[in-house]
Amino acid sequence: MTRKPIMAGNWKMNLNHVEATGMVQKLAWTLADKEYDGSKSECVVVPPFTDLRTVQTLIDGERMPFILGAQNVSEHDSGAHTGEISADMLAKLQVTYVVVGHSERRQFHGETDELINTKAKKVIAAGMTPIICVGEGLDIRKEGTHVEYTLNQVRGTLAGLTAEQVAGLVIAYEPVWAIGTGEVATPADAQEVCGAIRAEVAALYDQPTADAVRIQYGGSVKSGNVAQIMAQPDVDGALVGGASLQPEEFAAIVRFY
Ligand code: PGA
Repeated sequence: MTRKPIMAGNWKMNLNHVEATGMVQKLAWTLADKEYDGSKSECVVVPPFTDLRTVQTLIDGERMPFILGAQNVSEHDSGAHTGEISADMLAKLQVTYVVVGHSERRQFHGETDELINTKAKKVIAAGMTPIICVGEGLDIRKEGTHVEYTLNQVRGTLAGLTAEQVAGLVIAYEPVWAIGTGEVATPADAQEVCGAIRAEVAALYDQPTADAVRIQYGGSVKSGNVAQIMAQPDVDGALVGGASLQPEEFAAIVRFY
């Protein structure tokens, strides 16, 4: 089973739509120099909502080998939900991937596994692919219960999804203590949990589903550590925060092979 690596750059709340243009152009030039054509890894750019239209137009118009992602979505379909963005609105902007349950949403916006599960279902219903984030905080890691804690999030966020739906989605394992801290989980730490997630998917569904689902590692991924992380058998990509704002760095991550 070959799973295509998925390298996603989550810009978080950085870069307005004018700045986004420069960022995407620089990324395209840098990757063109490295003869990147999207055949060996997917390059997903995940800007803030307000940049989506601009970035999509650029990708389309210049035929850039990038795929568009969004950072969040509403659990509602439409109506009286001031400030929310629906899955259909994102799909209309040709968004392909939607990050759900990022640790910053869990931590600072009270998102639960149940809510994240609802959002993932909305994303799938709108014809897009969720990137479902899971991962433990430092306290849990210190207790040594990080695998069970993360698998519990996996069970909660996948609840009610079919094998076919799970086979097509992406799970991002992001230990919270490694996000934006410069503290990277070792490749063995990443493999331990990513491997356990795949085994859990096999137990919940079946082996073909587990073999198909893509699992990313996220947390202080950089050009200097991406190769060792990607060499792990159950790591199929990276969810990148800080380094995705530096085009040279992110290009090197996307072109890790
Ligand atoms: P980081 O962020 O790469 O800056 O650690 C990762 C993430 O939050 O997805």
